[in-house]
Amino acid sequence: MPKLGNATIKAELGRSSWKLLHTMMARFPERPTKDQKTALRSFIYLFSRLYPCGECAKEFQMILEKHPPQVSSREAASQWACAVHNIVNRRLLKEEFDCSTIADRYKCGCAAES
Ligand code: FAD
Repeated sequence: MPKLGNATIKAELGRSSWKLLHTMMARFPERPTKDQKTALRSFIYLFSRLYPCGECAKEFQMILEKHPPQVSSREAASQWACAVHNIVNRRLLKEEFDCSTIADRYKCGCAAES
């Protein structure tokens, strides 16, 4: 198999990571408990510290300062993730995603999906 260049690896990592994040939000409870809200908020901040692309992590931490995670509901979390992904898209000169379609886009194929 040919060796992947750094840009390709970074892009693959990004695609997988966004997929994980958006799918997590799509499965986040509609009415989360206090503990679930704390868990999601902590996950996002830890993710921003540990994300393996250093430059991306730094940028994402700056985005979080202005746009802190919204964890009050599934809808709030999904819209927040869509909005911050769009901020990254804009910076990388990529097309913006229509966040009104987010609920239909991310499904995990898990049991009892609602
Ligand atoms: P991606 O942006 O990876 O998106 C994958 C798919 O998600 C798209 O094809 C589309 O179907 C869908 N999508 C697009 N926008 C949205 C949205 N707003 N909401 C929901 N779904 C959407 N790369 C850098 O070069 N520099 C960086 O600083 C950088 N920072 C990053 C920070 C984070 C937290 C993450 C997760 C990734 C970062 N990346 C960064 C990677 C970058 O965002 C892309 O993932 C990568 O360039 C591949 O882009 P792509 O065009 O394949 O689509």
